[in-house]
Amino acid sequence: ERPDLPELLTPRAMAALLPGRPGDAHKGSVGRVLVAGGHAAYTGAPVLAALGAHRAGAGLVTVAYPAELRLNLPLESVRHPLESWSAGALAGVRAEAAAVGMGAGPLAHAAAEAVLALRLPTVLDADALRPELVQAYVREGVPAVITPHPGEAARLLGGEAGAVAAEPLEAARALAERFPKVVVVLKGGPTVLAWKAGEGLEFAVNTTGNPAMASGGTGDVLAGVVAALMAAGLPPWDAARLGVYLHGLSGDRRGRVGLLAHELADALPEARAALE
Ligand code: AMP
Ligand code: MG
Repeated sequence: ERPDLPELLTPRAMAALLPGRPGDAHKGSVGRVLVAGGHAAYTGAPVLAALGAHRAGAGLVTVAYPAELRLNLPLESVRHPLESWSAGALAGVRAEAAAVGMGAGPLAHAAAEAVLALRLPTVLDADALRPELVQAYVREGVPAVITPHPGEAARLLGGEAGAVAAEPLEAARALAERFPKVVVVLKGGPTVLAWKAGEGLEFAVNTTGNPAMASGGTGDVLAGVVAALMAAGLPPWDAARLGVYLHGLSGDRRGRVGLLAHELADALPEARAALE
């Protein structure tokens, strides 16, 4: 059995998914994002996710992180420092979507469980990409997007990164079947998406992006972008496809070797404008 022919993400199809910005929009109406992550050496990852969310159009971005960290957050982000990722640590956070795991290291499990309790559509990235955490979202029926690179996909599947990278469509399909209703974004050149909604399996292959994006932090930016698009009201499959496309388009507009992840984030508005 072979996968159905995948959808190639085209400018026309992706432009049709762009969430509108009505004249009476306000910061509470266009999507509020919760970013949850950070740990010791990885204080940049949640910051880059926050930047991605801001630059993808979020009205408000709240970043929850261990209180002992000094995060160099954008002036525009709302800080939510935590003593621990205990149940209830996120009570009172207002958001329509979340991204969790970036730079979370050994705290990813507790962070993902705290976020799951909010029951928001969530991007699980980086250290939150563990089978038991993804399974918890499946079990609870909370919409989720997972954004593994080949190494993280191999960890989820119990295989090897080389095998995932050699057969990305097969690996994305295996992930979609293992985690029904979870949108799978298998990152790479190119990024492959898969999703098992009911009986059938949906596939898509991204057409934007370039090897200049192979640098630390670009994946964290993507997690924030996809969360912002879900917060704006897009269903997870649409948010994932548009997010991956815009993220790659942004890389293509700035794509010189030496591209930094925060520059990729900063180029998102012009990438979006070019698509409109
Ligand atoms: P991460 O490994 O989590 O930082 O994510 C890396 C990001 O850069 C993903 O969005 C990848 O799709 C993208 N990327 C990395 N290498 C390439 C490549 N050779 N071509 C296109 N995109 C890439
Ligand atoms: Mg990553």
